[in-house]
Amino acid sequence: MKEIILAKYGEIILKGGNRPKFENILLNNIRNAIKNVAETKVRLAQATVYIDVIDEDKIDLVMERLSKIFGIVSITRAVVCEKDIEDIKSKAKEYLKNDLTDGVKFKVEAKRSDKKFPLNSPQICMEVGGFLDDEFPVIVDVHNPDVTVKVEVRDFNAYVYCAENKINGQGGMPIGTGSRATLLLSGGIDSPVAGHMISKRGVEIDAVNFFSFPYTSDRAKEKVIELASILAQYTSKINLYIVPFTEIQLQIRDNCPEEHMTLIMRRFMMRIAERLARKHKSIALVTGESVGQVASQTLAALDVTNAAVDMPVLQPLIGMDKLEIIDRSREIGTFETSILPYEDCCTVFTPKHPTTNPKRENIERTESRLDIETLIEAALAGVEKLEVYPK
Ligand code: ATP
Ligand code: MG
Repeated sequence: MKEIILAKYGEIILKGGNRPKFENILLNNIRNAIKNVAETKVRLAQATVYIDVIDEDKIDLVMERLSKIFGIVSITRAVVCEKDIEDIKSKAKEYLKNDLTDGVKFKVEAKRSDKKFPLNSPQICMEVGGFLDDEFPVIVDVHNPDVTVKVEVRDFNAYVYCAENKINGQGGMPIGTGSRATLLLSGGIDSPVAGHMISKRGVEIDAVNFFSFPYTSDRAKEKVIELASILAQYTSKINLYIVPFTEIQLQIRDNCPEEHMTLIMRRFMMRIAERLARKHKSIALVTGESVGQVASQTLAALDVTNAAVDMPVLQPLIGMDKLEIIDRSREIGTFETSILPYEDCCTVFTPKHPTTNPKRENIERTESRLDIETLIEAALAGVEKLEVYPK
């Protein structure tokens, strides 16, 4: 029996006249993501993408890839039938024999998008439901079924599958439908989750990491590259810019009050990220802050940090609790890497008593002891660019 993958998309349906444009981007993203996994034929009709995997042994691998593509809400394997009720019945019997076991309560749901098919949806349900009820020791229960048998009569074929075997997709919008943003990616738990949330809305992501050699080790850098490669599973490829940050940190340490250190450091990060963003056609910054999580994330501190740049700063975790963020990071697969114990540039230079209620003017005054422009330019001159591919 021939199986096929049906992937249904979500929010694109709301796009009215622009829908074909969004659909094409989604189709391209799907083809790109699976081209190295298996030979496939991919087409789209009626809010569904049909993925015909030529080597059927690879179906699970392809499903796994599809489960990471933004824009898809559900994915299922289905058996392909002729558009003939007798063929639908016999294929359903064979295909569902492991689902329709003793005492299972079931119902049939039918959808007929080909109105030329001689039976309407209720008639399909009656025919297929009655037949399966005769063939298997099962009980029809339309209100509280264990198994919902789906029959979809579509353009070229009919398809049968069991709704319970569907897996959830990522949802969101296809990457490439929402311009580009630059993620400040640390080695921590939060920023990878922030990057995932923004790219889920269709935004392409570049990443910037600030690196304090020799205070932070090569393993810390490997960790950031690994995080980027996990994010790239969702976005295809990520350009990662590694910025040498040691000189700036030493200058801040030697010239500014200790309690202002973290915020001044954060302001430098924002400025450098903004320069890189503008250079690479990115129109927003993304960071992983959440209100109140640490001293540098009080509202007053966020005001001081964000005031350093003239670009929207997206902070998708802003209202989330740490535990919620951790759950997300487990779901997207970054958690285990994030908790590896390598020093981050911020942990190396942490003040004992950071200010929690800073004023812009005070920070600007102490920061002005530094030659800000020269320090930024020197850091930018040392940027290393890496192209990171999905892990
Ligand atoms: P994370 O878990 O993302 O490291 P955090 O709770 O440790 O976040 P901070 O250290 O205050 O928070 O950093 C706030 C945000 O600043 C991070 O979420 C990240 O976007 C950015 N950031 C911090 N350190 C770096 C770094 N070394 N390189 C790039 N971005 C960084
Ligand atoms: Mg951190």
